[in-house]
Amino acid sequence: MNTFQDLGLNEDLLHAITDLGFVNPSDVQSKAIPILLEKDTDLVALAQTGTGKTAAFGFPMLQKINIDSRTTQGLILSPTRELCLQITNEIKLYGKYCKGLNVVAVYGGSSITEQARDIQKGAQIIVATPGRMKDMISRRLVDISKIEYAVLDEADEMLNMGFYEDITDILSYSPEEKCTWLFSATMPKEVSTIAKKFMSNPVEITVGNKNESTTQVSHEYYLINSRDRYDALKRLADANPDIFSVVFCRTKRDTQKVAEQLIEDGYSAGALHGDLSQNQRDMVMNSFRKNQIQMLVATDVAARGIDVDDITHVINYQLPDEIETYTHRSGRTGRAGKTGVSMVIVSKSEVRKIKTIERIIKRDFIKKEIPEGMEICEKQLMSLANKIHNTEINHEIDKYLTNINELFADTSKDELIKKFFSVEFTRFYNYYKKSKNLNVSEGRSDDREERREGGRERSRDFGGSASDSTRYFINVGSKDGYDWMSLKDFLKDVLELGRDDVFKVEVKESFSFFNTENELKDKVLAFFTDFKHNDRFVNVEVSENRGGGGGGRRDDRSRGGRRDDKRGGDRRSAPRSDFGNRGDRRSDDASRPRRSGGDFKGPNRAARRSGSDSKPSESSIERPRRSRR
Ligand code: AMP
Repeated sequence: MNTFQDLGLNEDLLHAITDLGFVNPSDVQSKAIPILLEKDTDLVALAQTGTGKTAAFGFPMLQKINIDSRTTQGLILSPTRELCLQITNEIKLYGKYCKGLNVVAVYGGSSITEQARDIQKGAQIIVATPGRMKDMISRRLVDISKIEYAVLDEADEMLNMGFYEDITDILSYSPEEKCTWLFSATMPKEVSTIAKKFMSNPVEITVGNKNESTTQVSHEYYLINSRDRYDALKRLADANPDIFSVVFCRTKRDTQKVAEQLIEDGYSAGALHGDLSQNQRDMVMNSFRKNQIQMLVATDVAARGIDVDDITHVINYQLPDEIETYTHRSGRTGRAGKTGVSMVIVSKSEVRKIKTIERIIKRDFIKKEIPEGMEICEKQLMSLANKIHNTEINHEIDKYLTNINELFADTSKDELIKKFFSVEFTRFYNYYKKSKNLNVSEGRSDDREERREGGRERSRDFGGSASDSTRYFINVGSKDGYDWMSLKDFLKDVLELGRDDVFKVEVKESFSFFNTENELKDKVLAFFTDFKHNDRFVNVEVSENRGGGGGGRRDDRSRGGRRDDKRGGDRRSAPRSDFGNRGDRRSDDASRPRRSGGDFKGPNRAARRSGSDSKPSESSIERPRRSRR
């Protein structure tokens, strides 16, 4: 293994590397840095996030640019604001001994004039998202006509997000003879096309195989009935008391609902999706970075650029539509030399997708069983026992010991231990003692059963109540030229609703059905009281097809009236997590002493995982239940 010195980096950079505590170059750094330092070449590097690729292009760029000049010489394009800021911070850290270095981040949602001002001070390197960069160029707030190095970071993500034209446009303002370095986790056709278009004879380096997942991550799947998906998620969280995870859902709506339900059930969770304001997203991300949120429930788009290295688990609550997205999801864990687990919760009808993913990522999945109740109780109990064992004694307690000793004068050590642990154990035990086994066998899928399960799951989306939504009748249908998509668009537009607010649109010949959340019912009905479209009154009524039924009469029959009251033992909210870590951050009641980090938010994660956390534990204090929403 080579060292950073071997790579040819200068003293300023080596000094920063020592400060950062990097001991050895990562694979992508060992491969890219010597090439980029030695010659002016284009480069295509296939590397996941978390492999150290920012330094792989950052160090050579810092070494090659002329810091004494105030001309912009390097441009780094990245898909998201978060990633843009992350790269900027990293480059600043790498270049902390490069005197006079000015790195400016350019991204939407923040003052363009301030960014322009920072650039005018003389930014040698600009890190930008494509949309804002294009805007700045068209307003002549930035000059990239003299750049020598352009980096397209997470190129596959940028193309996924529809930035192809912006990138083409931006690069047309840059000199032809510059070097272009493209970094991408996967190599879909579109990325090859862009590489061909913008580069000449690029050197290619690959860390792992194309589209392959990092070896730091193990992949597991859990086979369940769709209707048990949410309960399975809770069990996976309960069985991993120190979990610090991103839970991926397919839609914004599911993301919000799963997060809300987790919070309600006592977990420290937060939602991250595009319907939240930038401010809300920043707040959630800050809490997550500070380990104040244990389960971040996110959509794929919103999770792009999550720059947290300590994620222990990625949970695929639902598989992504595009299988390649799985690589990005699982790449959120196992970063910076750490190991991680990517879990997939699948129903029988989806299980064949696991094989497809295995082929793409060139890794095998391990089929695992959702832990049973008593297994979870044992895990939680032992986790607590370890924490207590490793807890440093707080001698403030000494003054109360006489009274406590008096109280327990007749209690033996054995009995005392049993009583102490029972306080917490009983909560989990009571919750899980009658819980059912959630696993299903992999045998041939019974189509009818699957359809029924699928229907049930869709009807409540994540295991919540089917009656969350209202089903409406509307007197337009296919003979008015609508199909489900155009009707959905029409409703969204006239009602000014978000993409996921109108769902289960079913178009018949002369009428149709659709659903919204219950809370939108008044708005929908009020809007359509006197609404004319193309000279015709459009009438909307609450449908007698079961409210929230998803699919109307057909679904009603298939559910056989079983609705959602048959969810088995896990239906109840899990006990609040004072037993383990979950819920440590629920003490948002200012009148109570806030847990100073709890067992979870230890001084560092290594200490927390090994149980050597010495923070005080409130684990035996019963707090009033509060929702953090
Ligand atoms: P990146 O893939 O650039 O997002 O890097 C992921 C994380 O790894 C960042 O927090 C970097 O600071 C860190 N990192 C980068 N290179 C090294 C290295 N050689 N040794 C240890 N950590 C590193």
